[in-house]
Amino acid sequence: MTDNNNSRPSNFIRNLINEDLRQNKNNGRVHTRFPPEPNGYLHVGHAKSICLNFSLAAEYQGQCNLRYDDTNPEKESQEYIDAIQNDVHWLGFDWEDRLYYASDYFDRLYEYAEILIRDGKAYVDDLSADRMREYRGTLTQPGRESPGRNRSLEENLDLFRRMRAGEFKDGAYVLRARIDMASPNINMRDPVIYRIKRFHHHRTGDKWCIYPMYDYTHCISDALEGITHSICTLEFEDHRPLYDWCLDQLPVPCHPQQIEFARLNLNYTVTSKRKLNELVNERLVSGWDDPRLPTIVGMRRRGYSPAAIRDFCERIGVTKNETVIDMSVLENCVREDLDRTCRRILAVLRPLRVVITNYPEGQVEQLEAPFHPNRPELGGRQVPFSKVIYIEQDDFMEDPPKKFFRLAPGREVRLRYAYFIRCDEVLKDSTTGEVIELRCTYDPATRGGKAPDGRKVKGTIHWVAADQALTAEVRLYDRLFNVPDPGREDDWRSLLNPHSVEVINNACLEPGLASSRPEERFQFERQGYFCVDRRDSAAGRPVFNRTVTLKDSWEKESRRG
Ligand code: ATP
Ligand code: MG
Repeated sequence: MTDNNNSRPSNFIRNLINEDLRQNKNNGRVHTRFPPEPNGYLHVGHAKSICLNFSLAAEYQGQCNLRYDDTNPEKESQEYIDAIQNDVHWLGFDWEDRLYYASDYFDRLYEYAEILIRDGKAYVDDLSADRMREYRGTLTQPGRESPGRNRSLEENLDLFRRMRAGEFKDGAYVLRARIDMASPNINMRDPVIYRIKRFHHHRTGDKWCIYPMYDYTHCISDALEGITHSICTLEFEDHRPLYDWCLDQLPVPCHPQQIEFARLNLNYTVTSKRKLNELVNERLVSGWDDPRLPTIVGMRRRGYSPAAIRDFCERIGVTKNETVIDMSVLENCVREDLDRTCRRILAVLRPLRVVITNYPEGQVEQLEAPFHPNRPELGGRQVPFSKVIYIEQDDFMEDPPKKFFRLAPGREVRLRYAYFIRCDEVLKDSTTGEVIELRCTYDPATRGGKAPDGRKVKGTIHWVAADQALTAEVRLYDRLFNVPDPGREDDWRSLLNPHSVEVINNACLEPGLASSRPEERFQFERQGYFCVDRRDSAAGRPVFNRTVTLKDSWEKESRRG
């Protein structure tokens, strides 16, 4: 499905906005917001919401606000506030001067609560939490009215003011909306809208000892900011009547429309903030930016590009039904973007020493190598070649099976951008029997990779000159969990993939990489895409994270399995 005048896939939210525009609703304005609670780092699910809200606004020449839903001070912190802004910017979006906090509205929210009380639409209750649950009823049974429901307006106002003044202990009273204890929608059975909670707030300090509840706060915040389309995830569908009820009772400047869409679920990982928090706090990962996590900082450190993540969010689309997206969809978006943008270089992860016996001792020659096979504008560089080189251990087999076209005793292969070499001799460790060195000869006439006599070789392998090589730490990351839906299991921690990271301490890279900068990305030829770690690299000593392999090895394996 695509719109006629537009190459983007259409979705039900666009259709809805188009209809609003046709009717000139909101005077043709489109104003969205991204409303995180600053109680953790953002993850790939939030990326979907960010892309959706900011892109829709841009598409309709509208605006998108960033607003912190900071009504729960005990779980929130400045660290998260700062991280969220960095992440949204890094993804490529900008809220300009429209950064808001629900806590900015605490005074207004309080005034509105007094209006509700005066209008007989809210009352102070003193039922304990347990009793309140009891009175609330169940899906099949209507709730019962609390004795507090019939307090006089004066008494309610007096008690609410004293709640604010700090006369009562935490939990002694709450303010409830007076709606309908028999409503089939439990959210409408006189929900709590204010509670007493003595907790220092990261922005309002100790000014307040009562805090408004999320449902009450969110709709009013939207209205105060002139939001037109308040987009949220499906679990809020049953809260929409409450969203509308609050706005209908109050003299707010406008009445935004809440629209729900299905949250993003990704397999082989967890996207619950609570579980991510546990992984970090229990040190099962190295931090919020562990490259194995689906957090935005984790994906960034892993080497995923903002463009790839945006492309992923666009491709998976927006729907009303819960689905699980396969991790390979995300990884393919990353591969596609990196294939286009990354320079290719030579890197040997598990080095095997090769001595080229007929190459002059002490000679170093520079060979031309382009950075990208089909993007000459990315230029090239020179790679040094000399008598001793490293090749990948995997690229040699003493006793190769039929289809192995790499190096073996008596066989010839092409060294990428260099020469043909032939393996003449295999040296082994006398005790372990491990192959420790190959003795080869090269054919000087094959410089650049072609033989003048027309003879062919089947394999081309990568290599690095030993004396010039940059030795570096390289981390190979794999999926964090072994099973597609770890979040579903109670003991989800036991499902962590024990091989989700492998650290190689002495990979040999072509020397030009010594000057690479944090977050630079490369394709290591035949290996995958790698990114300079932004946390652990030092000048001249980059550490590389494997972003993704060249091919989807998981898909193959799961088919085989
Ligand atoms: P919590 O349940 O702790 O509130 P949350 O994931 O809902 O966690 P918020 O900070 O409230 O976190 O989320 C901010 C916005 O991102 C909300 O509008 C929410 O609907 C949206 N969002 C959160 N998770 C996803 C997801 N997996 N897919 C799409 N949108 C999401
Ligand atoms: Mg939430």
